[in-house]
Amino acid sequence: MLTSKRKTNSRKFGGKFGDTHLISELSVCHRIFHRFLLLAVFTLLSVAFLPGPQNPGIKEIVSVAKTPFLENKIRDMGLDLLADWEGKIFIVARPEDLVALEQAKIHFMVETTKFAPFVQTPAAPAGGGINGAYHSYKELEADMLALQQKFPGLAKVFDIGDSLEKRNLYALKISANVAFDEDEAEVLFLGCHHAREWISVEVPFLFGKYLLENYATDPEAKRLVDRSEVWIVPLVNPDGLEYTIHVYRYWRKNRRDNKDGTYGVDINRNYGYKWGVSNNGSSPDPRSEIYRGLQAFSEPETQAIRDFFLKKNFQGMVSYHSFSQTIMYPWGYTTVIPDQEPVLRDIAAGMAALIREVNGRAYSFGPAGQTLYLTNGDAVDWTFGTSAIPSYTIELPPVDEMSGGFFNSEADIQSIFEENLPAMLYFVDRFIREYSPRRSSFRQDLPERKLDKSRRIR
Ligand SMILES: [Zn+2]
Repeated sequence: MLTSKRKTNSRKFGGKFGDTHLISELSVCHRIFHRFLLLAVFTLLSVAFLPGPQNPGIKEIVSVAKTPFLENKIRDMGLDLLADWEGKIFIVARPEDLVALEQAKIHFMVETTKFAPFVQTPAAPAGGGINGAYHSYKELEADMLALQQKFPGLAKVFDIGDSLEKRNLYALKISANVAFDEDEAEVLFLGCHHAREWISVEVPFLFGKYLLENYATDPEAKRLVDRSEVWIVPLVNPDGLEYTIHVYRYWRKNRRDNKDGTYGVDINRNYGYKWGVSNNGSSPDPRSEIYRGLQAFSEPETQAIRDFFLKKNFQGMVSYHSFSQTIMYPWGYTTVIPDQEPVLRDIAAGMAALIREVNGRAYSFGPAGQTLYLTNGDAVDWTFGTSAIPSYTIELPPVDEMSGGFFNSEADIQSIFEENLPAMLYFVDRFIREYSPRRSSFRQDLPERKLDKSRRIR
């Protein structure tokens, strides 16, 4: 292990200092000093990671040329694909992945040093509190309960199930007469299926907070809260989130012990619609970052969302992720587009336009399978496949890895929320306007979804 780590490090240094341009600028003395400094830093990082239930090792961000051949080969290897950018595929590689790449004779470049936020963050856990203004599980729990206490007629916190490590999965319901299940449009916002995507907790949570705090003074907020039931589950993967705060900032999956030395199921590949339909879009390999689990809904987190969803009568759903500034709708498992594409596209375009008006930031939109990459077993395909409701994955900023990737600054929290707020208000409003109580009777025939699909979805 240690040997392979040293090898990794020296390769990194070789990459950086083997650059002729750099060499010409640095004296031999400087080079030796820098080598020593970097080695010291990385030795410290290695030591920082040694304890813990699964030593994640030092990961590197590497790039390979984007060719169809390499794309397929890399997928087969179950690597964690990060970004597809300027003719390169970026991968988060563990030491053993680097060895595998080498053995497969795939030429790669170590690019970690280009990613300042990535390089800086792993050092932080020693100081504690690396989540800063971002919520931990306990902080979120306290803030959700505080909202319930402050707005007793409008906010109610429900415990909809437990995570693997027995943390509560909380849903915040916001509606006038919140204690009652009224016949109103119901809209669902999910956050943080993927542990490292911290901003995806904040945006749905802040939306709930906004509706409650503005109810008394803002007629529009009041109208939406009076006429709908907004449900927010800001943290679908609490075990993973805690792991990113205390052990390894880059963790993605839940904390399932796969009993083979690996941990984690990608809970956004564990839902039951077209689960595992291909290995291009999820992986059967427990080592993979997109490992789908042993069977559909094998994980308590997805079971909880499923059971909760099926008890309600949602008209629309958004699941927040990061990063890439993209609004995606079904299907994810195939590049084929669903019959309801025009309606799905219309809503996505509406949201993208509203977002752009705030900060001028462009969010692309389109069918998931055609937009980012194929996924199967995700939440959005499942809610759409099960009940044909408009369902979206919104990948929050930044737009790419070079702009910070998963590592938004604390200052981003408010601005990213604010740029998404009009789109969230629009999303709820759309279902209020289209809601008619008779519609709920459609629910019985939803799994078949043979006829009237487009009518149901409007
Ligand atoms: Zn994600």
